[in-house]
Amino acid sequence: MAKFKPAPGLEEKLALMLAPAVQRIARQVEIEAKRLAPPTKTWVTVGDDKVRPTHVNAQGQVVPGNLRFELDSMQWDIEHRGVGAHTYMLQPGDRSSRAIANLKNCRCSMHRDPDGIARHINTGQPVVTGKKVTVTVSVQAPKVVEAEVGTVYPGGLVAEGTFFMSRAAALVAARA
Ligand SMILES: [Zn+2]
Repeated sequence: MAKFKPAPGLEEKLALMLAPAVQRIARQVEIEAKRLAPPTKTWVTVGDDKVRPTHVNAQGQVVPGNLRFELDSMQWDIEHRGVGAHTYMLQPGDRSSRAIANLKNCRCSMHRDPDGIARHINTGQPVVTGKKVTVTVSVQAPKVVEAEVGTVYPGGLVAEGTFFMSRAAALVAARA
């Protein structure tokens, strides 16, 4: 059987021709990833002089919606509740953090931003290297890897991953 041998330079030409199609696919991945991306949440104190220092330090902290805020622990919680140096809360007043002192009389709130991660998702320009076409869909945001795959906090508190990037890629691949 004859072996097909592409004309010299043909594969390179094909790669250039395919580049726009590859980019259209990448753009679809970007659109799905933006739809599937978790929101971000921001810790907000009331900002007066009665806010406890551990919450003053948390003011403005931004984390993906599936993750926990990291606060300094209060001494009582360290001694009586077995928490470590940090207390991990899904939102202000979160009892699943196992803290008590760090929750008591808390007046803090949480601001949710549905596009907090989505707005950082971008599709790059196609890069043609020889016979290869590469288009990168990227996202640069705080703790974005943990937003994707999840994490485990001290004390065994588990944050499930949202897998928004891999789900987006799988959805688009299934259409092809
Ligand atoms: Zn508070």
